[in-house]
Amino acid sequence: MSIQTVGVIGAGQMGNGIAHVMALAEYDVVLSDVSQDALNTALEIIEGNLARQASRGKIDDATVKAAMKRITTTLSLPDIGAADLVIEAATERESVKQAIFEDLQPHLKANTILTSNTSSISITRLASRTDRPERFMGFHFMNPVPVMQLVELIRGIATDQPTYEACLAVVERLGKTAASAEDFPGFIVNRILMPMINEAVYTLYEGVGNVRSIDESMKLGANHPMGPLELADFIGLDTCLAIMNVLHDGLADTKYRPCPLLTKYVEAGWLGRKTQRGFYDYRGEMPVPTR
Ligand code: NAD
Repeated sequence: MSIQTVGVIGAGQMGNGIAHVMALAEYDVVLSDVSQDALNTALEIIEGNLARQASRGKIDDATVKAAMKRITTTLSLPDIGAADLVIEAATERESVKQAIFEDLQPHLKANTILTSNTSSISITRLASRTDRPERFMGFHFMNPVPVMQLVELIRGIATDQPTYEACLAVVERLGKTAASAEDFPGFIVNRILMPMINEAVYTLYEGVGNVRSIDESMKLGANHPMGPLELADFIGLDTCLAIMNVLHDGLADTKYRPCPLLTKYVEAGWLGRKTQRGFYDYRGEMPVPTR
């Protein structure tokens, strides 16, 4: 299976990063979204991020121009149909993703590989609603995509070996490293990372430490580059809660129960950096702990 054209569905923070790294690796990219504003913003962000890489001497100006030329945008999902590989990176809601794959299906080539960048939804279940579960898998980038080295490749129960190998070759051409994961809730990274973040919130909830002491402890005591609460704010507390709920529901073990304090922050709309307030308040010059 030779892959040259990549369709990216969803032009949010993950979709623009995926389009960026694909274009730099000389794939032709068709980026789609339901919102023209999201597409315009994505192109601006990609150009800005490429320019930053050029200013640091990582790439030259000609590479920036060539990469931008390889990206086309569309509001029309059928335009994605001609792609060899589709990476769906739309909003993390199963009904949204299912509708996308259903609408796309009549326009696809017979051998197009379908993938989802979902953080938590079952790949097997998404695949089962398509006409090609054997050519469907999870292609899970980390945030921010241009910076993070890992891609989790998740096989659904029906994913065949040629599909896995074709996706692995794409990851290698991106210069990234793949980790192969089976399709169970949270895959590898979130299965391990989210319970740690949730435990940090319990540590705060029970008054064992405050925001600053918990983050300092894990940075200086465990050599983590970011504290767990700072990291939770970066990921988004709604996303953290959604993933904990997937682990709790999918693995049916009380050790995954989301901390009530995490739920309370989400109910308050304090979702982390994206809303300017989470475990830290970002509205001033320096982040200030909220507890
Ligand atoms: P986001 O909210 O930044 O972007 C989602 C985009 O999808 C929006 O631009 C929205 O307009 C678009 N969209 C919604 N419905 C659509 C449709 N029917 N067709 C096309 N586009 C549509 O979200 P994100 O953080 O980029 O997350 C996208 C996916 O990546 C999710 O599945 C998420 O779980 C996964 N993911 C996120 C992270 C992270 O740290 N944010 C990390 C790994 C994976």
